[in-house]
Amino acid sequence: MFTFIKNKLQKIYNQFTSKLSTLFGKSTIDDATLKELEVLLISSDTGVKTTRSIIEKLHTSMQKGTLQQGADLKTALHTILLDILKQTPAKNYTNEQIFLLVGINGTGKTTFVGKLAHHYAKQNKRVLLVAADTFRAAAPEQLTRWAEKSNTDIVLGTQGQDPASVVFAGCEKFKKENYDILIIDTAGRLHTKINLMNELAKIKRVITKQLPDHQTNTLLTIDSMLGQNSFEQAKLFKESTDVDGIVLTKMDGTGKGGIVFAITQELQIPIAYITFGEQPDQFKLFDVQEYVEELLG
Ligand code: GDP
Ligand code: GDP
Ligand code: MG
Repeated sequence: MFTFIKNKLQKIYNQFTSKLSTLFGKSTIDDATLKELEVLLISSDTGVKTTRSIIEKLHTSMQKGTLQQGADLKTALHTILLDILKQTPAKNYTNEQIFLLVGINGTGKTTFVGKLAHHYAKQNKRVLLVAADTFRAAAPEQLTRWAEKSNTDIVLGTQGQDPASVVFAGCEKFKKENYDILIIDTAGRLHTKINLMNELAKIKRVITKQLPDHQTNTLLTIDSMLGQNSFEQAKLFKESTDVDGIVLTKMDGTGKGGIVFAITQELQIPIAYITFGEQPDQFKLFDVQEYVEELLG
């Protein structure tokens, strides 16, 4: 891992890794050790359900005699955690040209759109942004600032305009002017869930109709600091629109590292990207292997 990323995620690793290393150093593993691990996992946002399934697996190994000392625990936990993350294989997100960001308010959609724009612009791709958040008054301005920062073009709507029609205009421009990358920002609205979901379905229909030869990367932002609270909303998003991957944001915040396992296990959606700050380059593709290895120390 690059050191600057490591520094940002250090809090997460510290919380987990230092406590785990005590358990991994034990000469014998017993019920009390597994209880300690259970408490650690739950306090690290791994979630009750996911934690229980992890502990049950370890318990079975203990009864079989394959889990006797700390080193065995490390090996077993490594396998179990990797298995959880590999249940939902990540797609090759970098293959696609169209990105659609969805999620609840304040989870980091617009910021991530800006980061992706910056990333692709740096690779000399022609990037077009679509500000389809026509709900929040400040949204177009915020995205315009990102567009200026990365010197990319942007299609704006007016407040209250049907977001699908802004997306329509974006798709037209993308085709006509031969852009390489199209990134669509949408509004998050908790209080009108059904409307929002219908709106998303409509946006998707417009993209499919206008750009039938392209696949869309639909990415759902989840704020890692909100823990399990955001799962119910995430489930609703998943029900109404195909989600290809999660952008787990604000990993530099107070969230704890276990959330990645809870998300994968409970939502059955792969984590595509993590973000760890407000600067353009503070995001990366999520690497399952790397994450588990860093976490277990
Ligand atoms: P949206 O409502 O989903 O579009 O969310 P925004 O992109 O506007 O982000 C909401 C707030 O979170 C803003 O103040 C962002 O600067 C901040 N934010 C977004 N991503 C990150 C991140 O990775 N780390 C931190 N610390 N803040 C972030
Ligand atoms: P349908 O509404 O599901 O039958 O699909 P359409 O492709 O006819 O339209 C979907 C949405 O795209 C519409 O509700 C509009 O918001 C938008 N749309 C369709 N045609 C146009 C157009 O010519 N210009 C613009 N700006 N938006 C359009
Ligand atoms: Mg936004």
